Amino acid sequence: RAYNFNAGPAALPLEVLQQAQAEFVDFKDSGMSIMEMSHRGAIYEGVHNETQALLKELLAIPEGYQILFLQGGASTQFAMIPMNFLQGRTGSYVHTGSWADKAIKEAKSFGNVQIAATSEANKYMNIPALSTLNYPQDAAYLHITSNETIEGTQFQQYPDTGGVPLIADLSSDIMSRPLDVSQFGMIYAGAQKNLGPSGVTLVILRKDLLGDVPKSVPTMFRYDTHLKNNSLYNTPPGYSIYMVNLVLKWIKGKGGLAGIEQLNREKTGLIYNAIDTSEGFYTGCVDADSRSMMNVTFRLANEELEKQFVKASEAAGFIGLKGHRSVGGLRASTYNAVTRESCEALSAFMAEFQRVNG
Ligand code: PLP
Repeated sequence: RAYNFNAGPAALPLEVLQQAQAEFVDFKDSGMSIMEMSHRGAIYEGVHNETQALLKELLAIPEGYQILFLQGGASTQFAMIPMNFLQGRTGSYVHTGSWADKAIKEAKSFGNVQIAATSEANKYMNIPALSTLNYPQDAAYLHITSNETIEGTQFQQYPDTGGVPLIADLSSDIMSRPLDVSQFGMIYAGAQKNLGPSGVTLVILRKDLLGDVPKSVPTMFRYDTHLKNNSLYNTPPGYSIYMVNLVLKWIKGKGGLAGIEQLNREKTGLIYNAIDTSEGFYTGCVDADSRSMMNVTFRLANEELEKQFVKASEAAGFIGLKGHRSVGGLRASTYNAVTRESCEALSAFMAEFQRVNG
């Protein structure tokens, strides 16, 4: 297997791929692949509902929340959130970087947007201190991007927003550590980093937040449509949901979110340690107190050396270490399915590259 540090779509656990392979042609002795089955049939519905039950168990989701499986990626949520919740009110956003920026731009097409805090002056290399967040108490919601995949920053704690519903984009760090869902009005995540393949977007929504949504909002863009129909209003992305089901069982087998967090801390620790002990050969991009456990961003002395690093890493079997085109540098994405062995190999490769080029 390649040492896959892709930012997304990202590595899947080998055991999950193997199980999917074993069940690919004939699912549960039905004589069919699960992707050939009716989404109204008992076998598919069993998988659909079990996937919700696994999420409920692993995230300890309290009563009053509904789990939705939607399509269109997290990017569609950037529009659905203001369409369903603004209705003349203000949406407040914490501007932490590239993905927050997209969510903000989209919301501006639908209503009033206010910025609760921004780390722009620091080129988005930190998460603003929670004590500096400033938003109207009658805001429809406060939106945060839990993990900025491109810059490599992550909220270490979440704001206590009192009566203002907190909405979070967890696309790149969902299921990577325990989460207190009761702190949120809504969370959402595209599946393709920590949950499964692309094609399904997970939404966990506090049901009482849904007020009257204008009739002009199309059926498929209304949360109430999916809520009333258990995400089966139209054909769901069944194969992706089935894969999420397998990934959740794999997480359970790793000791749930506490077990996964421990593993992730060790993995990312290996790479941050390689940076921090390099005496300046490698420099971490983001402020130490905002470092992401999922996307490690770092630089070398110049772009030429960074190009050499990428080339040499590819020759050594590493995939996806080039930073995002918008920020440059290097990035190792260490999502749940990236093995400890891959991170050990990367840390050793970094030390060797430094020995030769330092
Ligand atoms: N939000 C974050 C934090 C992301 O990392 C991404 C994708 O990388 C997105 C949103 C967009 O997700 P999608 O491609 O599912 O629309």
